[in-house]
Amino acid sequence: MSRFLIDRFQGMEGYQLGEQPKNREYIKLNANESPFPPSPLVLASVTGELQRAQRLYPDPACTEIRREVARLYGLPMEKIFCDAGSDVILGYAIQAFGGRGCPVCFPDVTYNFYKVCCRTFGVPFHEVPLREDFQLAVEDYRGRRGCVFIPNPNAPTGLTLTLEQIERLLAQDRDRLVLIDEAYVDYGNESCIPLTVQYDNLLVVHTLSKAYSLAGARVGFAVGSEAVIKDLNALKDSFNPDSISTLSHAAGAAALRDQAYMRRCVGAVMETRDWLKEELRALGFTLTDSHTSFLLASPKGISAPEYAKKLRERGILIRYYPQPRIDGYVRISIGSREQMEHFLQATKEIL
Ligand code: PMP
Repeated sequence: MSRFLIDRFQGMEGYQLGEQPKNREYIKLNANESPFPPSPLVLASVTGELQRAQRLYPDPACTEIRREVARLYGLPMEKIFCDAGSDVILGYAIQAFGGRGCPVCFPDVTYNFYKVCCRTFGVPFHEVPLREDFQLAVEDYRGRRGCVFIPNPNAPTGLTLTLEQIERLLAQDRDRLVLIDEAYVDYGNESCIPLTVQYDNLLVVHTLSKAYSLAGARVGFAVGSEAVIKDLNALKDSFNPDSISTLSHAAGAAALRDQAYMRRCVGAVMETRDWLKEELRALGFTLTDSHTSFLLASPKGISAPEYAKKLRERGILIRYYPQPRIDGYVRISIGSREQMEHFLQATKEIL
């Protein structure tokens, strides 16, 4: 820490990413990455792009990706924003819509990045406790000022809100912005993007890091009212106008074009997830009913850190959370069936 750093940042802890080891072949179940390569269309498109336009700056408007999203959801491109990963978009949204007298409200157990990001930007936040069994009750947000950020499905609980519940949340106060983070929506859940037609206080954020296997490319998009999208563009244009590389842009557009491939990968992950849920239950684990590409599970007879440590010794990485309410749980990303059979075998040895 230098002597120039201002007070607010001193001793601040950054968002903890899942470990990304480079020097050993681990079975990586700690960052909710896809076990599958991206669509073959991605490789073809990126190769073509490499030959064509690397000497040029990228298209700051991300036209190709926005065109694909517009086609997919039957919406005008003016309602779509795109940037280098959904974390970047979440950061813009926190700066644009949170501030003094306008706290960002989110569940007390949710994606930790919201809190870290609010702290980074000096934006006040309010954590709204989840109910028993990690259920979210939209009534608990009634009368809250500011804006609301909720992942659907929630992370790391994996639990979902119905579209009807989201609509009730939106209708509580049409002058309050609600951001729904749909990072894991593709794993068998319904997107609330169609609701952006009726509700101009809804902003939906998506990532291509999970279902589309493009975590390394860093591509995310958001859908909302034209006015809200304009606000995001104003921030982007001020800070980092050409943030998506031409290669990531080509990769993202190609991945979105191959919906059939994405559905096949997601189908395989869901099948493995549901099989593993039952296997872990049979071993005495307590699990939430996760509708995502990961499981939140509490092992019986061993602490979460100890279990994670023993798996690590066997070459398998998972995550645990040294924080209230979920400190007895681990989060296990769903890999390929073969990886998860390996994981299950290791778990049986440990317990
Ligand atoms: N939202 C949630 C709920 C997530 O779990 C993640 C991934 N860690 C993100 C957003 C960020 O995704 P991206 O890779 O697009 O930044």
